Amino acid sequence: MKDSALVAVENLVKHFPVRMNFIQMLFTREKKKVHAVNGVSFRIEEGQTLGLVGESGSGKTTTGRLVLKLIEPTDGRIKFMGKDITPLKPKEMRPLRREMQIVFQDPLASLNPYMKIGEAVRHPLVIHKIGRNRIQQREMVLEMLEKVNLRPPEEFYNRYPRQISGGQRQRVVIARALITRPKFVVADEAVAMLDVSIRSQLLKLMVDLKKEFNLTYLFITHDLATTKYICDRIAVMYLGHIVEEGSFKDIYSEPAHPYTKALISAVPEPDPKIMETKKKMIPSGEVPNAIEPPPGCPFHPRCPYKEAVCSRIFPEVVEISEGHKVACHIYAKK
Ligand code: SF4
Repeated sequence: MKDSALVAVENLVKHFPVRMNFIQMLFTREKKKVHAVNGVSFRIEEGQTLGLVGESGSGKTTTGRLVLKLIEPTDGRIKFMGKDITPLKPKEMRPLRREMQIVFQDPLASLNPYMKIGEAVRHPLVIHKIGRNRIQQREMVLEMLEKVNLRPPEEFYNRYPRQISGGQRQRVVIARALITRPKFVVADEAVAMLDVSIRSQLLKLMVDLKKEFNLTYLFITHDLATTKYICDRIAVMYLGHIVEEGSFKDIYSEPAHPYTKALISAVPEPDPKIMETKKKMIPSGEVPNAIEPPPGCPFHPRCPYKEAVCSRIFPEVVEISEGHKVACHIYAKK
């Protein structure tokens, strides 16, 4: 039966080999690996936004790249528009590339400093042979620059990235991602480097463009607060695992996993009085080393609720209400 989700991943695994120098190789037999992603599964329905949230080192960026097949998974399956794309070679992926795009965190690093903005946005049209000729492609670029609020577009077309602000540069990157009219966009910390005021403008733009082009987003962020504006569902990642997934309301109103509760408690409140009374539960310590992840529940070294079983056995994923899933022994018992 054809999968109704636009994107579906099952038990996705990515382990990177650790590079060792000659001396280390002499004394170590075991080949060490970074366990970046360890059995991640999720689905994104067409027109929805899934927020992938976690601290640095949680595996969220690697997951985003795996979904787009920018890197090959060690194990697991990726489906796009109902088709299993896992075994596809780079050449076979090429026609699908125009349907799946990515917006990176740093717009300056994403843009060629010597290429004019108009040419940068036109480039994907050239690669995918879209548009009858250069004149038509230029018209398509001007229209897209207008849609991302770079006005007048003719003026922006001939500028270089260094001649515009950081927020405008990220608008250019979004325009370049959308010029091929993709169905699916991975936004990897797309607003993280921007000032707070510019951040909310960009989030609003992404929401407007999503409606206009019927886009589906995977919105990757370390900042749970930004998911408020854009996400329908949220998956919380910790050390390469999804520890909780639910609707936006589930995660904000009824967080279940101790790690999600800690993240929610750290979200700043607009009213400072509420912030004073809000109990912060940020766990001490850091995300453990992904080369030697702890046994059992990956969160147990930092969890204030841990029990003996937590350091021995990995918790199963339990659905605690419709579509709200959590991997924690507390809920497995109930
Ligand atoms: Fe904490 Fe145990 Fe739940 Fe892990 S399984 S989050 S250690 S209570």
